[in-house]
This record gives sequence, C-alpha cells and structure tokens, in this order.
Amino acid sequence: MPGATATKTRIYLSPPHIGSEERRHVDAAFATNWISPAGPHLAALESEMCAASGVESAICLTSGTAALHLAVRLLRVRPGDEVFCSTFTFVASANPIVYQGASPVFIDAEPRSWNMDPELLTEALAERARRGRLPRAIIVADIYGQCAEWDEIQAAADAYGVPLIEDAAEAVGATYRGRWAGRFGCVGVYSFNGNKIMTTGGGGMLVSPDATVIERAHQLATQARDPAPHYEHSELGYNYRMSNVLAGIGRGQLQSLPARIVRRREIFECYRQALGDLPGVRFMPELADSRCTRWLTCLTIDPEIAGVSRGAVLAALAADDIEARPLWKPLHQQPLYQAAPVFGGALADRLFAQGLCLPSGSGMATEDLSRVVAAVRSVFPGA
Ligand SMILES: *Cc1c(COP(=O)(O)O)cnc(C)c1O
Repeated sequence: MPGATATKTRIYLSPPHIGSEERRHVDAAFATNWISPAGPHLAALESEMCAASGVESAICLTSGTAALHLAVRLLRVRPGDEVFCSTFTFVASANPIVYQGASPVFIDAEPRSWNMDPELLTEALAERARRGRLPRAIIVADIYGQCAEWDEIQAAADAYGVPLIEDAAEAVGATYRGRWAGRFGCVGVYSFNGNKIMTTGGGGMLVSPDATVIERAHQLATQARDPAPHYEHSELGYNYRMSNVLAGIGRGQLQSLPARIVRRREIFECYRQALGDLPGVRFMPELADSRCTRWLTCLTIDPEIAGVSRGAVLAALAADDIEARPLWKPLHQQPLYQAAPVFGGALADRLFAQGLCLPSGSGMATEDLSRVVAAVRSVFPGA
C-alpha cells in the first residue's frame, strides 16, 4: 500500500547465528544424558579447536572472563603485583588482575591495528625496570577481530622476561602472519559469549602451547580437588568448567566459523563501499600479513571534517531501531580504574570520542545493510 510504513524489525549489533549442527550435538547430549560439565562434547570441542587453530592444548570454560582469571592465577599474579594491560578494550580484560588482588597499569593503542602499542610497551617496561618493579604479566587484547603487532610485542616482553597473556576473546579465527589469534602468549583466551563471532550461548576457552599449563587449569577450574576417594582440598579452586551441552553448540559453531568470517568481512566491505566516500569517515585499518575477522565493523567520524558528530549518527540509527555502539571506553577513563597508572592514552581517547560499531551479525540480510547505510547517510549534509 503506497504511503504505508512497513513494520521494521530491530537490527541487532551482533546476535548469535546458529546453524543446524549445533542442534544435532545438543540433542545428542540430551539423548545420552551428558548434560553436566562432563561428557564427550567437551574433549571433542577442545581437540577440534586445537586442530583448527594449531594450539597445542585447550580447555572449555564457563566464560572468557573465567579463562582470563585462570590465566593470571596460573602466572602467579598476587597482591602487590602490577600487570600491564591494553587500555582500549572491554573491562573483562583487566578485572581478573583485581580478582587476584593485583593492580593494572594501562598501555595505549597504536593507530595501525588499534591494539597495544609495542613502542609504548617498551617504554613502560624500561621505566618500571629502572624502578626495579617489572610487571608480573602483560595482558594484550586483540580488539574487534584483529591481532596486535605480536612480533614487536613479543620482542618487547622477551627483552624484560615478562610473560604475555593473549586476550583473543574478540579474535577467534583471526590470523597474524599465518598464525591464529590465541597462539601468541604463554596462554590465550577465547570468548564464546552470545555476541562473539562463535558462541556457545556463554562460554570461553583457555589455550596454551604447554599441555601441563592446561592440566593445571583443569585442576583449578574443577574446585582444585586433590586425589582422594573423599573431597580433599589443599588449594583454592573455582567452578569454571563448561557444560557438555554448551560444548555441543560450540562444535557446530566451530564448523561454520570460516564461513562466518567470510560473511563478516563481506559486510565490512559493503559498509566501506557504501560509506567510505563520506567526509571524515575512516574505517578500522587492517595490518598487512594479518587477517581480521571483522567481528564488528568499526569506523571513526572526525567531526571537524564531517560536520557531523558520532552522537548524531548513533541517534539516527537508534531512531530507526538499529543497535549500534560507541567503540570501547578506554579502561583508564572508567570510574573503576581512574586511579590506575596509564602510559599514553590519547589514541584510545580519540577512538572512544569518534568511533562507532555498526551491526555486523553474519546472519544480516542485504536489506538490513541498506537500512543501516541509509540511516548513517541521512545525517550527512548533502549525502
Ligand atoms: C567478551 C570479552 C571478554 C570476556 O569474555 P566473556 O566470555 O564475556 O566473559 C574478555 N575480553 C574481551 C576483549 C572481550 O571482548
């Protein structure tokens, strides 16, 4: 009917994209009564992930946050320690430092991948070395589906003998110089939260090149029970093991991950082609020798050039029932971490002030993409 407005459905930022294999594995878990945090899907998902990623050893956990907590615990982070951490990331990257009673020190990003700046990291390590107070560990996040400059970061950390934790929660399936995200630290972390590129509804994984580290993680994740016929405990553990039902979902998701990455990269290219001509608009860069999954399509809007603010674009999207978000608020700006030291910070501040993520779910229809593009363009004068 001309003039009638069709009912529009809400477009979400990054909803789960579930296929049919997931359901088959979940049904199998029910049929065999393996519904607790034990059962064949757990070992299967762990070995299938090792095969896909090239990691040596992996354990399924209840969340990426739990995996990060085990990571800092395994590296013996203790009260009084400092731990370096990316500032341009989600708060879950840093919280486990505080769970261990230690203090975060934040490091700014570089403009090439938006991840931790290796030069600033070197400066920060040199400064702490002069004061005789090196950090116990360094947590580097791979943001928005892209790996950090790992060769440079590894060299900086090696020069001072400080171990690296790779928070690859957002970068499952990304590669850097041919190697998967998650393979660059002593331990790596994946998240399978509902909005991530691969989901188990909620869940995560700790991976390591050292199988004994993962055995130790298994012990801690299952309440640190000592070998005995009764319940005997000599150290503090956690209840962090994933359910076998959710591991079944993960197995289905892992199979379709390559296709999901291809689709998210296509979505990014569509947006870039449709919006790249707008003044002051710049898309997230991609490192040479690196393949970003484009988990979320991210861009920045320089208001001086655009004549339009990021806020105005967000408002136009919200008015059309489209979910979009500013980029991460840097952790050094969070009220929770106001007192923490920070090296640099200006780039993360600018990304937060000007940046935005657009709906990027791999299940998005072409009409949805057009609707997002039209809403963004409507804000630009003469566009
Ligand atoms: C999602 C996320 C986490 C936490 O993962 P959960 O599975 O949600 O606990 C950690 N770090 C980063 C960078 C994330 O985006």
